[in-house]
Amino acid sequence: MTKNDKVIFICGAPHSGSTLLGLILGSHSTCFYGGEINKIQFLNIEEEHEDKYCKMCGSSCPIWNNFDVSDKKGIYQQLSDLSHKPNIIDSTKNVDWLKLNYKNLNSTQSSYLIYILRDGRAVFNSQQRKYKNINPNELIEKWIIHVRSTNSFYDTFEGKKIKIHYEELSLKPEETVKKLCNFLEISYEESMIQYYLHKHHPLGGNTGTQYLIIKAQDDVKENTPIKLSERNKYYYSDHPLEIKLDLRWKKELNKDLKKLFEIKAGSLNESFQWDD
Ligand SMILES: [Zn+2]
Repeated sequence: MTKNDKVIFICGAPHSGSTLLGLILGSHSTCFYGGEINKIQFLNIEEEHEDKYCKMCGSSCPIWNNFDVSDKKGIYQQLSDLSHKPNIIDSTKNVDWLKLNYKNLNSTQSSYLIYILRDGRAVFNSQQRKYKNINPNELIEKWIIHVRSTNSFYDTFEGKKIKIHYEELSLKPEETVKKLCNFLEISYEESMIQYYLHKHHPLGGNTGTQYLIIKAQDDVKENTPIKLSERNKYYYSDHPLEIKLDLRWKKELNKDLKKLFEIKAGSLNESFQWDD
């Protein structure tokens, strides 16, 4: 049995780089990154579902295939046992999940919260690309609601907490990861940045970022359930393995949409904005 020591929550709006951050931190020798752990709700369902399996191993995962949703010892303790790592990272964005699982921790588990911030215009652009049939107003409103509830969870969180910008992580990965290791009270390990060379078992999360692992590791290619959408394919197929800042929104988001976002969400976006 491996005692669960730290539970590290990564919160933020979807499409903010939490998968990348989770994979980097999950490459530390004492950490296991479970992905968006609320996806355990799909593990035992009958029908096929994209979130039913580990994104790397598909139906033959040594971690998730042995995970028992009814086990009373708690999700994070069980993951420490299965992964043999004392520190577990969960990047579920759903605030109700975060509240509940934070509340359920016992006094021997230390909790850490990392709020990953990304310019709302970039998030909006990613969503525009993914959800072509949804009204842009609706996408912006969803972002506003999610950010407000995440902000209030962050403000009331009583464990250790920190905010970082996705853009900062991408531009200065080493410096930012060192800062985060210091915050998490774990030693910095150089190989963390090369997260794609490590073994991972995430549920859910950003397929594009995970695709880089498939690119780097031949054996993952055979089992992964990941299918890239045509739209993203061109981008990630030429994407170098190194971490790179994604500023596609600047070119892809048209003037009218930029203006719409500004009017509806400009003030809330102030602390997320990245204009470099
Ligand atoms: Zn797996």
